[in-house]
Amino acid sequence: MLDLLTRACRHPLLYASVLRRHTLVFKERIQESETTYSYIFSPTTTLSWHPGQHAIFSLSKRVQEGKNWRPFSVASAPHEGVIRIGTTIPEPHSDFKQRLLELRSGDTLFMRGPFGEFCVPRTATHIIGIAGGIGITPLRSIIAAAAHSHDPRPITLIYSATNTHVYRTEFDAWHRLHPHLNVIYVRTIDETNNAIRDLVRIHANTAHYFVSGSPNMIKAVRTDLHNLGVRNVYNDPFKGYLL
Ligand SMILES: Cc1cc2nc3c(=O)[nH]c(=O)nc-3n(C[C@H](O)[C@H](O)[C@H](O)COP(=O)(O)OP(=O)(O)OC[C@H]3O[C@@H](n4cnc5c(N)ncnc54)[C@H](O)[C@@H]3O)c2cc1C
Repeated sequence: MLDLLTRACRHPLLYASVLRRHTLVFKERIQESETTYSYIFSPTTTLSWHPGQHAIFSLSKRVQEGKNWRPFSVASAPHEGVIRIGTTIPEPHSDFKQRLLELRSGDTLFMRGPFGEFCVPRTATHIIGIAGGIGITPLRSIIAAAAHSHDPRPITLIYSATNTHVYRTEFDAWHRLHPHLNVIYVRTIDETNNAIRDLVRIHANTAHYFVSGSPNMIKAVRTDLHNLGVRNVYNDPFKGYLL
């Protein structure tokens, strides 16, 4: 909670919407891989957000075990007109994820936000994204928005996943239309590290780096970037908020 308040004081505009609670209507679930699903919701009120931000999603009925809410990055861009989240639901899974699996069209959820500072600043001239697994979600939003607005700034994304690279069809389609939106698909830690080093060698501190993934992945990549002398590194704090 203290962390959230400190960040909100530092970036009041990026955190203002944490105070707003919206009702979302569940429209559709899309299976993206064996264990990964996209959930599409229609907001019942007008919403705006910056690509890359996240929100707190709460179920309308309490779960038997654990918290009734989770933070998720918004995977859609504002022009898409829907709130899309992407999440993995492995076996076994939490009560919260079970309730997501049981959602039926027309069911409602609550959302606080979107908020957060994982967004591209106007001053950035080249964006390098580094995503691990389901950490791809905020970067889908950033790239979808860049493609839609014909943003001329190059985005290079290193996307690491051991199995399926979800959203790959969309990324490839955006790349064909906008060759400066480029995704490097990797599978192992070594491949990820080599790709990072290659990009740092070329772009060093002329680029802004956006890292998204598990806490361990973020920590390892941040340390690597720091040791390579890179500044301008952004990540979402991947820990629970006491809201
Ligand atoms: C800023 C931010 C953005 C995020 N964005 C995303 C996103 O875009 N997509 C996403 O998927 N996540 C995202 N997360 C993480 C998300 O909030 C959840 O913590 C995560 O999805 C795990 O939730 P869970 O309910 O599966 O597991 P949790 O309840 O948090 O439990 C952790 C682990 O325990 C296991 N577990 C839990 N309950 C049981 C049970 N009853 N039986 C057996 N095993 C169990 C689960 O397998 C899970 O791996 C984000 C977090 C933050 C802070």
